[in-house]
Amino acid sequence: MSRKVVPINHGTYNGYTNRKCRCSDCKHAASEYMRRYRKTSHGAATTKYYAVLSVKRAQLAAQWVKENMPDVWQEIARDAAKQVDKEKYLDNHESESNDDAASPGDDPLAISAENRDVTDTATTSPQNTGTNQ
Ligand SMILES: [Zn+2]
Repeated sequence: MSRKVVPINHGTYNGYTNRKCRCSDCKHAASEYMRRYRKTSHGAATTKYYAVLSVKRAQLAAQWVKENMPDVWQEIARDAAKQVDKEKYLDNHESESNDDAASPGDDPLAISAENRDVTDTATTSPQNTGTNQ
């Protein structure tokens, strides 16, 4: 069985998505495509839906582990606290007025503000469920 080899058209969304090319031109094209898509009302709604879904999944997973494997949960909570640099957030908070040039995408606090509904629908806060028993 022979198959016609169609060359990849690099720098296109098709190259990235259907041909699975990960060269910088195809990555850039896919990134631009998604940036434009997220600006459409459907794209923005879909992005928000998946953000909320992702948080809900994480909450349910954390709740399950906490209830069924409390020793594992304690270990996860300790690891998380080690991996997240508290000082970094405290420092950012203190120098807020000097961060005007920073991209909102670099600031986790800005992301959580954008997805305010995500935190509003939260029944429990995963980072607070480990030590309050
Ligand atoms: Zn490519």
